[in-house]
Amino acid sequence: MDISVTDKLLGVFGGTFDPLHIGHLRTVLDVQQALALQQIRMLPNYIPAHRQKPVLEAQQRYFLLQKALKETPGLVADDREIRRQGISYMVDTLADLKQQFPQKHLCLIVGGDAYRDFCKWHQWQDILQLAHLLVMKRAGLANQQNKELQQRVTTDKNRLLSVAAGNIVFLDVCQLEISSTRIREMIRQKQSVQFLVPEIIRSDLQTLYEG
Ligand code: ATP
Repeated sequence: MDISVTDKLLGVFGGTFDPLHIGHLRTVLDVQQALALQQIRMLPNYIPAHRQKPVLEAQQRYFLLQKALKETPGLVADDREIRRQGISYMVDTLADLKQQFPQKHLCLIVGGDAYRDFCKWHQWQDILQLAHLLVMKRAGLANQQNKELQQRVTTDKNRLLSVAAGNIVFLDVCQLEISSTRIREMIRQKQSVQFLVPEIIRSDLQTLYEG
């Protein structure tokens, strides 16, 4: 893959980030480095489409994300799903991004668990008209490939540049068995979450989740 032309690709990483943790950040950095992506936009959802209501408000989750990404220029906190309100469907987010960045090939980054359920996502076929899919292998999850999606899987990363959307690439990332659920649970049990979350937001988390 020709590194000099990869500013063509724009990484998109949506999540609840309730809260953001090192598992999100380290893996997304691995993706960024593997494809020499100039930028990955991280988008906290407003109302998640596929899970229960988050503990923190969207603005609080966005505040933490923004604070944690301050020193990391390639990773950008993007609040468009919060500004849009309503249920945060990724298809709408990608359509909006495509309008703002018409020349870019959007690359939607998902964890292995999210990929396993991808065919349950709202208008998932339309998502693949708007973006490529980058799947991060996640610890503890079998790398099951959905049969309907299998034909789109490629190991040729140049396909991400040659066509605008619709290919699926699996990426090896640092396997960190950390989840937001576990972080919330640890805070509830008054255990330290040091080294599991960005240090700069650690005390905010104690306050926000304990309060
Ligand atoms: P929760 O435990 O509350 O379900 P989570 O830790 O899975 O949260 P989300 O914000 O729901 O975090 O995840 C956003 C995206 O990040 C998803 O695509 C998910 O698969 C991915 N992800 C989360 N944690 C990791 C991790 N440790 N390694 C790789 N990917 C991860």
